[in-house]
Amino acid sequence: MIPTLLLATRNLKKQKELQDLAAGLDWRILTLRDFPGCPEIIEDGNTFLQNATKKAVEISRHTGQLTLADDSGLEVEALGNAPGVYSARYARGEGSTDEENLRRVLMELGDTPEVRRAARFVCAAVIARGGEVCFSTVRSVEGRITSAPRGTNGFGYDPIFYYPPFGQTFAEIDTARKHSVSHRGQAMKAVIEFLTGNGQQILDS
Ligand code: IMP
Repeated sequence: MIPTLLLATRNLKKQKELQDLAAGLDWRILTLRDFPGCPEIIEDGNTFLQNATKKAVEISRHTGQLTLADDSGLEVEALGNAPGVYSARYARGEGSTDEENLRRVLMELGDTPEVRRAARFVCAAVIARGGEVCFSTVRSVEGRITSAPRGTNGFGYDPIFYYPPFGQTFAEIDTARKHSVSHRGQAMKAVIEFLTGNGQQILDS
C-alpha cells in the first residue's frame, strides 16, 4: 500500500512544493482540501514550534492520518524579533497584504543602519500521528532587511530579505535557489529524510 501523508494546509502551493521535494518518494500527499470537515485550528502559540505542533497534533487526531504541519515567519532583531508568529498579519491583522506587512517592517526600522538590520526566516515542521508528535524540527536562514524592496519573485517578505552569500534578496533569485538555502527548504529536507528513514516503520506500527 502506498503510504499517505496529510499536509495540514489548504494551500496548493505548499502541496506542490512538498510534492516537488518528495519527487521519487512513493508517498501519496493529501491536504485539508481532502478533509472538508476538519476544524480550523487557531494559531495562538508564542512560537512557530508551538503553532506547528498544535496543528499537527489536532489534525492527526481528527483525521487519523500521519500529518505534517509547518509554521514560519520573519524575525527582525532590532524589532525584538517581530513580526515573528504575527508575520502573516503584521500590518493590520487578518487580511493584511504582503506589501502592507513589509512596508510596516521598513517603516519601523526607519534609518536603522545596515549592521543593525539582522533578520532571519524561521520554519518549524512537525509530524504527528494519532495526536502524538513523532518528528519535529526548527530551521532558519540568516540575512538582513534592505532599505527598500528589491525583486519580484517569491512572496511575503522576500523582497526585503537580503541574503549575503548570494548578494541578492530572496525575491531576486529563483525559487529552486531560494529553497536550496531557505528555512522551509531545510525543514522540508529534514522531513523527507525522516519519512525516508522512519516513515514506513511508523505507519506499520
Ligand atoms: P506560513 O506559516 O508559511 O503561512 O507563513 C506565515 C508568513 O510568514 C507568510 O505569510 C509570510 O508573510 C512570512 N513568510 C514565511 N516564509 C516566508 C518566505 O519564505 N518568504 C517570505 N515571507 C515568508
